[in-house]
Amino acid sequence: MKRHFLCFKSDINKGLKHGRADVIGIRDIGGDLSGEVETIAIEIKRGTSPFATASGQTLGYNVSANRVYLADRRAKSFTQDELQIASHLGIGLIQIRNKKCTEVLSSPFYRPIQRFNFALLENLGLGKCQLCGSFFEIGTIEKTHANLTREKVKQAILKEKGIMFWNEEVATRKDKVGLRPSPQGIVWERRFICPECVRNFISQLSASD
Ligand SMILES: [Zn+2]
Repeated sequence: MKRHFLCFKSDINKGLKHGRADVIGIRDIGGDLSGEVETIAIEIKRGTSPFATASGQTLGYNVSANRVYLADRRAKSFTQDELQIASHLGIGLIQIRNKKCTEVLSSPFYRPIQRFNFALLENLGLGKCQLCGSFFEIGTIEKTHANLTREKVKQAILKEKGIMFWNEEVATRKDKVGLRPSPQGIVWERRFICPECVRNFISQLSASD
């Protein structure tokens, strides 16, 4: 993931309740003007599963990932039939041979269901900044929001952290129709501001000069 796809973050066996890929990688695709990222999901097989079934399973990861790959351990190349099935379905192929991975077919770019993609990224400790729009490290995989204060702006400036805040209006709206119930007034609608925006922008609002 890091060497071939230039991912800055990767993890194994991550996913949501609807399914988890064997490997997830995140890489930057925003150029100089944006901190946009792309999620790559890889399903790893041992060369024994029925190919079309494994391909269909791989394709399913596009509900939460931008690119999907099936990696298969095998001594021989993929057959013409297999390449056609993969192209027809729209998945990428990676051949694993002697611990070496070769990208045989590239995955098309998919637009996943955004809430599933954001939930997956949050699982990996990444969140979107509401000011600059970049994805940044909100915490670790073990402690998801460790790099954020809870609506404490001054503390965020002092400790060089980001900020997490809650949107009550949107939460109430979703609670009213039963879309996302808020038991005992719990607000699930969390939003983030990155440490860079706190340091370069918000900190100046409290400066005297
Ligand atoms: Zn930001």
